[in-house]
Amino acid sequence: METNTSFNEKKSEIMPSDKGLLRISKVAFGQWKELFLDKSTTWVDTILGEICDHYELEHNHKGNCSIDLKLLRKKNYELGDQLIIDGELSLSYNTSCIRCLEVFNEQIHTKIALVIADESFSKKEEYQEVDEVYAEEKNRELYFYERGQLNLKELVRELCFLELNPLPIHNAECKGLCFECGANLNHEQCSHSQS
Ligand SMILES: [Zn+2]
Ligand SMILES: [Zn+2]
Repeated sequence: METNTSFNEKKSEIMPSDKGLLRISKVAFGQWKELFLDKSTTWVDTILGEICDHYELEHNHKGNCSIDLKLLRKKNYELGDQLIIDGELSLSYNTSCIRCLEVFNEQIHTKIALVIADESFSKKEEYQEVDEVYAEEKNRELYFYERGQLNLKELVRELCFLELNPLPIHNAECKGLCFECGANLNHEQCSHSQS
């Protein structure tokens, strides 16, 4: 039990606010910190609801999301006071097949590698066209924090929506619906489909 308590304390040390804002100064320099979030966090659950809205599904179709992050704060000449983020995003969501309209589940696992720099760098000429930088042994996407705070909710939302399938098909063999009578041709034949 003792180890459990200290683990929770360690986690809460960099827990973002209820709105998903993480104050950069809360993260100590030079030591990797862990942060785990799932739909028990209100704003993560809100994003899952937005994914339902996106696919025009009721919120009882909400899926699951877990975000497993390691954060390192450091400071250097190139990008100032910054956060290095490594991690994994797992998303499970429901969507409906564009051919037959049947609701089905899709799952995504994606690695995250980011550098979060102060927004002032986004205005510098040398970073205008840059969306990737090399840091801590890999290429990382460059994001920015504003007024000393990283908007983790916006970041997670963007990462989730980037991964969503724009043309979900429940099965490559899906026969879809009959254009004449709307019959689901995966389950039945109608007079129009016998040509
Ligand atoms: Zn289908
Ligand atoms: Zn038909």
